[in-house]
Amino acid sequence: FTITMGCSNNKSKVQNLKLGDQIIEKKVDSVLSLMTLKEKIGQMVQYNGGWDLTGPPSKMSDKEKVEKLKNGLVGSMLNVVSVKATREAQKLVMDNSRLKIPLIFGYDVIHGYKTIFPIPLGESASWDLALIKKSAAMAAKEASASGIQWTFAPMMDISRDARWGRIMEGAGEDPYLNSMIAVARVQGFQGDDLSKENTIAACAKHFAGYGLAEAGREYNTVNIGEFELNNEVLPPFKAAAEAGVATFMNSFNELDGIPATAHKGIQRDLLKGKWNWNGFIVSDWGSIGELVPHGIAKDKYQASEIAIKAGSDMDMESHAYEANLEKLVNDGKIDVALINDAVKRILKLKFELGLFDDPYKYCNEEREVREVYSAENQKFAREVAKKSIVLLKNEDQLLPLKKSIKSIAVIGPLAYDKDTPLGNWRAQGKSYSAVSLLEGVKNMVSPTTEVVYQKGCDFILNDLKPGQSLFSHPLNINKTDISKIPAAVAAAKKADVVLLAIGENAYQTGEGRSQTNIGFAGVQSQLLKAVLQVNKNVVIILMNGRPMDITWASEHVPSILECWHLGSQAGNAIADVLFGDYNPSGKLPVSFPYNVGQEPLYYNHKNTGRPYNGGKLVTYSGYRDAPNNALYPFGFGLSYTSFRYDNLKLDKSKISKEGTINLSVDVTNTGNLDGEEVIQMYIHDRVGSITRPVKELKAFKKEMFKVGETKTINFTINNKILQFYTANKKWEVEPGDFDVFIGGNSVNTLKESFEVIN
Ligand code: BGC
Repeated sequence: FTITMGCSNNKSKVQNLKLGDQIIEKKVDSVLSLMTLKEKIGQMVQYNGGWDLTGPPSKMSDKEKVEKLKNGLVGSMLNVVSVKATREAQKLVMDNSRLKIPLIFGYDVIHGYKTIFPIPLGESASWDLALIKKSAAMAAKEASASGIQWTFAPMMDISRDARWGRIMEGAGEDPYLNSMIAVARVQGFQGDDLSKENTIAACAKHFAGYGLAEAGREYNTVNIGEFELNNEVLPPFKAAAEAGVATFMNSFNELDGIPATAHKGIQRDLLKGKWNWNGFIVSDWGSIGELVPHGIAKDKYQASEIAIKAGSDMDMESHAYEANLEKLVNDGKIDVALINDAVKRILKLKFELGLFDDPYKYCNEEREVREVYSAENQKFAREVAKKSIVLLKNEDQLLPLKKSIKSIAVIGPLAYDKDTPLGNWRAQGKSYSAVSLLEGVKNMVSPTTEVVYQKGCDFILNDLKPGQSLFSHPLNINKTDISKIPAAVAAAKKADVVLLAIGENAYQTGEGRSQTNIGFAGVQSQLLKAVLQVNKNVVIILMNGRPMDITWASEHVPSILECWHLGSQAGNAIADVLFGDYNPSGKLPVSFPYNVGQEPLYYNHKNTGRPYNGGKLVTYSGYRDAPNNALYPFGFGLSYTSFRYDNLKLDKSKISKEGTINLSVDVTNTGNLDGEEVIQMYIHDRVGSITRPVKELKAFKKEMFKVGETKTINFTINNKILQFYTANKKWEVEPGDFDVFIGGNSVNTLKESFEVIN
């Protein structure tokens, strides 16, 4: 089964890859021809490895699972998280089953494995694709060293609603940014060769529309139309498919009446048909079985029929396929060709990963010790974390602080929290706690600086019983205990500057954690107000997984640093920015609202027939009791230096549909520090066959500028940028007038116009 693909020049590499694909196809066919129907269906079954695989199973259900594994009736497992456990599970199959088809082990490696990087939303604020790719590659290296071969990432759901808990897991509200980041993450996880031991298969999820759950309520109905689906939701998935993502995961939600797991239109017809993508689709957890409560199947038998016809290849923990597919074939309800197609796709990935050559290739204890949580990985985690920080406000240049500052009060419920920075979906990150803000500050300041810590308040009362899962547990918020505030105020009074760490606990965001309140939980606002009364020099260190309502704070506090949940090295990275070792360069991948009532809020909205203009009320449009724009818009983020944009020039003012325009703009660092800036290009199509967004991000560049330096930045506008899914239900460029905007965020931009002619 060995495939050799080594070659030096590109042309022969492509030819050899094609040859490699053909060889794999042949091997897949030959394995398939040996399989019984039961064994084929087994490949489509994925089990959770929630029991201790290194010892004998204790529960009856686990004993049954072991028997199934031994009989070759399981294709994959998830949540098996050590080399030892992986080896044991693989051995059950390899030592006992008839055909010895290796299992593939999947896991949610979302933002790191043991070395934890910023939550995906936070990392996206770096707008640094090379960095993001490298962090995915490092996560793949750690995970693969622990036996994992497949991650359920990246999530690329467009999310515009801060109430939705899983907004932390993607790249925010914009289709273009999501697409670019999805591709970077896929390339990082998968590398250029899946058969290498340090790469893992990626999974584009959740297909599709999950991020637009009505009212941000978890798992809720999604009622978007065909145009929005194609123009806004699907582009990142298309980009990931084109980048060769190995697998897709469907989603829990329905799309205009059809649950995504049952959606033949997007799975079988579009993804596998029109896009000609040849990987496999895993269901989301239990989502085949959930077709019953969705109300489109009366039992799992019918649910299985609908799901396989729609294109779902692997059943994650519904236990629907294993119980029903054989009967469905025998009853003449489904063609065995559908099963063959699914199994071929699954076997293909197992060949590509090299599992048929060596089922234990990811089971290397020595690698697990050497490559996981290494010093090199920690260094890089710090780098990623500091680049993900967004400076939202910095009045009177309070920041950066001098390392020789006399005294600092580090205050807040999150100031010495070594868990929250790990965020939700932290894989095995809990094995090592994060560097807290307090520790990061102490590591940084001069020996003469006095650093005083006060917690100020608790806002989550963690009264979980041992073994109880935070997943299903309602968060118990402290609403009344202000007893710790006076000591915090006393510390603030004596300090030169106050670093106030407030925001959200790690488990306030993530799956199953939608909220209607996006302000500061508990008595955090009281703490903030009390501290501010005695010391005006307050820097808010905001730690959170979603855009929050920080309107009061932004009106009253001089400096705000958006620090998300930054991962293992959070405290050190924040200190790098606070003390000026790194000049912040992050930009928001989501709009921050004035209040929760504005949600969903996103910059790339449409005009109505009565548009509101720049947040100003025109007639009776929009809200009457709140602004209609964002408090901090998409793409926004300050630096310790400042940038000026001028001389926006287009080399043509008219092009044909196939033509290109070269655009240039001069960007100057006008401040006193070197710094990076993200130069953003937006387009507006003034008249379309369907209504068009007021602005859409179409390109960006992140560049370093020395003090006083001016750089001419170039972009190209072409048909790829101008096209959209039109009233003809095709991707086309429509002739007419366009505006192009360039700037350092989505609001303050230079503008030019051009025309596309037929
Ligand atoms: C989530 C998926 C995840 C899966 C496996 C589901 O609840 O929606 O995103 O990959 O669980 O953990």
